[in-house]
Amino acid sequence: MNIQKRIVEKKIEKRAYINGRYVDAIDKEIIQKTSSIDGSDLSGIASCKKEDVDIAVQAAKEAFESGIWSKTTHAHRKEVLLHLAALMEKNRETLALLDTYETGRAYKNYYEDSIPKAIEALRYFAESIDKYYDVSIPSDTTEFGIIKKVPLGVVGLITPWNDPMVVSAWKYGPALAMGNSVILKPAEQSSLSAIFLAGLTKEAGIPDGVFNVVPGYGETAGKALALHKDVRGIFFTGSSEVGKKIMTYAGESNMKKVGLECGGKGPYIVTESCKNVKESAKVLSDNMFYNQGQICSAPSRVIVSENKYDEFMKALKVECERYVPGDPFDDENNVGCVVSREQYNKIKKYIEEGVSSGADVYQATGEKKHHKDACCIKPTIISDIDATSKLAREEIFGPVVVVLKAKSTEDAISIANDSNYGLAGAIWTDDLNEAFYVANRVEVGLLHINSYGNDDNRSPFGGVKESGLGKDKSMYAFDEYSDLKSIWVHIKK
Ligand code: NAD
Repeated sequence: MNIQKRIVEKKIEKRAYINGRYVDAIDKEIIQKTSSIDGSDLSGIASCKKEDVDIAVQAAKEAFESGIWSKTTHAHRKEVLLHLAALMEKNRETLALLDTYETGRAYKNYYEDSIPKAIEALRYFAESIDKYYDVSIPSDTTEFGIIKKVPLGVVGLITPWNDPMVVSAWKYGPALAMGNSVILKPAEQSSLSAIFLAGLTKEAGIPDGVFNVVPGYGETAGKALALHKDVRGIFFTGSSEVGKKIMTYAGESNMKKVGLECGGKGPYIVTESCKNVKESAKVLSDNMFYNQGQICSAPSRVIVSENKYDEFMKALKVECERYVPGDPFDDENNVGCVVSREQYNKIKKYIEEGVSSGADVYQATGEKKHHKDACCIKPTIISDIDATSKLAREEIFGPVVVVLKAKSTEDAISIANDSNYGLAGAIWTDDLNEAFYVANRVEVGLLHINSYGNDDNRSPFGGVKESGLGKDKSMYAFDEYSDLKSIWVHIKK
């Protein structure tokens, strides 16, 4: 498929979307980048700066204060958001195409899994908003209270490139449902689907100024949004390093509410009591190697009981063959490229460090066709290393899993918790007591027992420690995009 041609034919919009109109950045600058699929030039998306962000915030603020969206009924907002979900469904192919074009992830994976998940998440928030209640403090004769959940106002959403439509839907879904005005700053590596989505929001009936997209670099557009005094909440998904900066920007400006979904190095524990070791290796591969391992919650730190180790390694080497990367636009392939040459080099460096440190480094052996300049990395298993080594502790964000040995279940728990991160993890065991004992002890926001990654929209998602604060998904997400306001009533006798 000639993608460049199809993108041109589809007249894909590359400008910012502010106050209901597509506009160039004021200084007309564009984002410069090349494709990780074939090295071709992908430059052209508007590169917004502080001046553009200021205009978007002003429009969002005016829209919020006018009540054109913020004061509409829950039923109205539900109907419009369901309409938006239907339009996304209708344009599923385009959304998948744009995300593949920019990020190199397999089209099949976007079309069959990621875009449907984003639509499902939006539908969940739309359907839930009229089931989300305020509460009251029971009255006595003269006094009672009402605790209301009120929208924040203008909220900024900053998203990463690894799953553009899902991560943004987890944020603009509850934010819009609550009545906020939104400014979305997508990652510079993957902005086209967000820009396209903006056009769909208009068609769905979201009023001008309520949903805005300001593409641009993090240090310019992202920083300006996070520092803006009229932005009342900043909700970020990305690296822990940038997450910490976001907290600083909030403190330096107006103490805006902060939500952070950051990195991870998910512990995946397989104990002596696990009877189905093969299944544990299969589920690990399914969650570790799709999208070339560029998944925040990837179970990238496996901790296996000594007496199950050989059996597990044998099974994992077989399972990882199902995730050999190839041309992302080939419908046969479930795995494409990593997002950029820069990311490719970073991952390769980690693998080289493994080799030079004397660790056991194994790579899948299969081959699939792809362009000679494609940034593809085969599933890689690193073992025989120290649990405290850099490779075992840092987030690689690539198809590289580290396997460590544990002497006992206590040892596995202590290795699991010896980490700056705490996003998601798993315990594989056939001992029910051990399953809950470990689940209670491991420091993560989401712990799977004998499974991984199958939590649905009802389950909150977000980490502890340097994996972030606050939650995406579930009814709890509405709490993030609102404030509690208490109204105390005195009744005259
Ligand atoms: P990143 O932190 O480099 O960038 C994320 C976003 O922040 C981008 O939009 C970027 O432009 C912006 N940004 C960068 N510097 C900024 C600054 N100074 N001020 C404001 N905004 C700034 O992350 P990435 O490389 O795009 O994504 C990969 C990271 O995201 C990984 O660490 C991964 O674990 C994490 N992630 C976490 C989750 C989660 O839900 N916890 C989900 C997906 C990805």
